[in-house]
Amino acid sequence: MMNNMKRVQHREKNVTSVRPIVEPAPQNVKLEMDKCVSCDKETPYPKILHIGYRCYYMEGVGQLCKECYEKIYK
Ligand SMILES: [Zn+2]
Repeated sequence: MMNNMKRVQHREKNVTSVRPIVEPAPQNVKLEMDKCVSCDKETPYPKILHIGYRCYYMEGVGQLCKECYEKIYK
């Protein structure tokens, strides 16, 4: 007994030409992150975030990353 298991390969060669042209959504408006004032590394805190909600922020100095903050306070 033989089962004819021939698979039908469906190749869509023209799929790219069929695809509708969609303008990229304006999601690439990247949130600008504050950088560490000491090592210039990007911190996880966006510039628009109030300093009261941040960690490792030094008044009069600016945003520090965790590493620099610990370096300074040790
Ligand atoms: Zn740093």
